[in-house]
Amino acid sequence: MEKRLTVALVAHDAMKHDLAEWVAWNWEKLLAHRLICTGTTGRIVADTLMERRGKGGANTRFDITMLKSGPLGGDQQLGAMIANNEIDVLIFFWDPMSAQPHDVDVKALLRLATLYNVPTAINRSTADFIISSTLMAHEDYKPVIKDYTSYIERIVK
Ligand code: PGA
Repeated sequence: MEKRLTVALVAHDAMKHDLAEWVAWNWEKLLAHRLICTGTTGRIVADTLMERRGKGGANTRFDITMLKSGPLGGDQQLGAMIANNEIDVLIFFWDPMSAQPHDVDVKALLRLATLYNVPTAINRSTADFIISSTLMAHEDYKPVIKDYTSYIERIVK
């Protein structure tokens, strides 16, 4: 049986079509996991999964949680989940061609994903590599998280 991971999915508006295509292509693999999405992305992911599941058999369920829309705090909610070690994989199709109203939140999300060593796909080919990795199913694989004890316990005068 497939190892169940928590996979976060986010796409900026110009990238939502790409993400929907990617989800349609990988829907069976994604069904094995718990999905967490920002609001608008989540609706598209859910619609795509329902459409594909309809074709593939009605007995398959999917587990999706929708956070707030990204610009309304969804990226921050996801960042908090990363800081709580609740996200195993982040698929984040951010738009390299447009400024976002919540640019600072986007940066913060990517920073936390980096800090907590979360496998992160920022484009489609990396998402393909991650979803097809044997490490997705490997029970013993845990990303190494740096020990920040000395930072936490530093003396600040
Ligand atoms: P959305 O947010 O899924 O609600 O559009 C995505 C984002 O973070 O920009």
